[in-house]
Amino acid sequence: MTIREVSSFAAGQWILPCRGARNITSAISGDVIATAGNDNLSVQTMLDYARTVGGPALRALTFHDRAKMLKALALHLRDHRQAIYDLSFDTGATQSDHLIDVDGGIGTMLVFASKGRKEMPDAQVYLDGEIEHLSHNGTFIGHHICTPLQGVAIHINAFNFPVWGMLEKLAPTFLAGVPAIVKPATNSCYVTELCVKIMLASEIIPTGALQLVSGGLGDMLDHLTCQDAVAFTGSADTALKLRSNSSILGNSVRFTSEADSLNASILGPDALPGTPEFDLFVKEVHREMTTKAGQKCTAIRRIIAPEPAIDAVIEAISTRLSKTIIGDPRLDITQMGALVSSDQKRDVLEKASLIGTEAERVFGDPENFNIVGADAERGAFVPPMLYHCAKPDTATHVHGTEAFGPVSTIMGYSDTAHAIKLVNKGQGSLVASVITHDPKIACEIAIGAAAFHGRLYFNNRDSMKESTGHGSPLPHLTHGGPGRAGGGEELGGVRGVKHYMQRTSIQASPDILTAIGKKWVPGSKEFQDPSHPFTRTFSELNIGETLNTPPRKITLNDIAHFAEFTGDTFYAHMDDEAARRNPFFPGRVAHGYLLLSFAAGMFVEPNEGPVLANTGLNGLRFMKPVSAGDSIKVRLTVAKKTRRTDKYGEVCWHVTLTNQDDEIVAEYELLTMNSY
Ligand code: NAP
Repeated sequence: MTIREVSSFAAGQWILPCRGARNITSAISGDVIATAGNDNLSVQTMLDYARTVGGPALRALTFHDRAKMLKALALHLRDHRQAIYDLSFDTGATQSDHLIDVDGGIGTMLVFASKGRKEMPDAQVYLDGEIEHLSHNGTFIGHHICTPLQGVAIHINAFNFPVWGMLEKLAPTFLAGVPAIVKPATNSCYVTELCVKIMLASEIIPTGALQLVSGGLGDMLDHLTCQDAVAFTGSADTALKLRSNSSILGNSVRFTSEADSLNASILGPDALPGTPEFDLFVKEVHREMTTKAGQKCTAIRRIIAPEPAIDAVIEAISTRLSKTIIGDPRLDITQMGALVSSDQKRDVLEKASLIGTEAERVFGDPENFNIVGADAERGAFVPPMLYHCAKPDTATHVHGTEAFGPVSTIMGYSDTAHAIKLVNKGQGSLVASVITHDPKIACEIAIGAAAFHGRLYFNNRDSMKESTGHGSPLPHLTHGGPGRAGGGEELGGVRGVKHYMQRTSIQASPDILTAIGKKWVPGSKEFQDPSHPFTRTFSELNIGETLNTPPRKITLNDIAHFAEFTGDTFYAHMDDEAARRNPFFPGRVAHGYLLLSFAAGMFVEPNEGPVLANTGLNGLRFMKPVSAGDSIKVRLTVAKKTRRTDKYGEVCWHVTLTNQDDEIVAEYELLTMNSY
């Protein structure tokens, strides 16, 4: 058998393993299948290359360019995923596990690609939040912007998800505009290396944006500056060691940590045997114990159930576990593969023994279990092991020792407050699930336990068909947790991207803010073009271009007509006396929607032209009532332009309605789709 030489990709070169290389074994056979590592890797050259070549290339692109790049990359990986599946079996993972790792990683990239296009601008500066008004006359205002860090992101990943672990970090990093150096865990780095090779061969990523360290990282962390970021996933012990590095502390290098976690699942007091929730609970616990042979950061380690239901829960979970086929992950019938290595097996058995000092093992004997198609002596196989802890209030290992394999402990609770106390004993977890059909219980647990968790997952008969599973971090939602879970907050859509950007508050005049943010700010320069803006194409329109309409008087007849026509006969528009009793109105007033409709009639250019559709309104506010006899006029200004396809783009118009005294009565953003 040829031993695979797992290379690093440094400063544009593939570097083979050399001095300091480590052997990597197959999880199934225990044979050495690869080597990785090279002590001669020049970490400073890699950092310089990322900072001077990859960073500028990425920063020259807009968020939309980078989002399109992510989409192309994900689709390219999808076309080549079979080769990654084939290689991944040696990590002990089954085909279903590959779907989580490989397809899950590709899916995460696609979500970031989509969010980048929908929620971020086609620009290099991201505007964060709303304008802050700092002065009486509006000549000095504040806004926050986010721009990419000008250094490099170091991604240090755990062994269990060699593909997802890399892609879920690369997606927000690239979208932010920051180059990355990926350091996978050595045990499974051959899978990551293949994935990197596929990505680089596509030539979709700019030169210097992606480098790979297979094997040890050397002293790379000692060379980091305030423009760099480290995103770590792994054990709490390694996290502590790395985040204590003096360069990281001294230079305030951003350090995000996703560490280990004693996640729990609570069976609600209402979810007793015979309910759909009970069956759902058993199914989820079984899935979390056996997927990836329990080597999942989000796996359920603690099963918290009402005291009277404990025996039934043990029996139901044990019955399911007894039917789980363990063996060679390459076989179709295998439901649970092996741990990643014999070292990992030793570690899991040691940790399980510690848990065994406080809990009785009620299912699974590591000395006696069936394995199909593989050699129990050579492969890193263990059975699922279920423990029962009768005294969870005084136990420590049960709540504090992570056996990173198919090991869970069940414990009873007396009431909801007790369940909350037990779940919080994890000292900060990635996720807890609560299986209940009772919103009151859900609410009590959310208030009592959310502060100790990065994610709470509620499930019941109403949501179970479409729910995504206790163990799945989703790109739309933050992944991470407080305390021993690392204190990190990855993913979460644009929130995840912001980890790789600096937020800067800008205090300036409206003109300067418009120039920096590429979005027109009220108070900055307006200019008129002789032609109506609705006759001008997306490309012809300029930010700040404004149409001011002549005034239109509002009559009582208009209000009555609108009320009758739409059916909106709310008393404030119909009954002067009643309206006067309302603290907000001087008497009978015009409908806000009447004003909006009039505004559209006042600024529209009715003929067929480049405006294709009105696609929505943002931030509508009615600020002052309008009575019969008042008049309104409209200011329509091009605030922002966003390319959407190669045929049309979105124009965001700032619209202000003012009365005869120049007081603002309504303000909003109008969105239209315009042809180029
Ligand atoms: P680990 O032993 O802590 O290693 C994690 C990563 O750190 C690996 O890439 C490892 O590289 C690297 N590393 C270790 N020492 C280092 C050093 N001195 N300098 C630079 N890098 C160093 O964890 P693991 O065994 O791979 O993963 C299992 C753990 O990860 C479990 O505790 C699990 O809970 C946790 N995990 C957490 C999450 C999450 O999102 N919260 C996700 C997955 C896993 P080498 O392999 O080369 O040593």
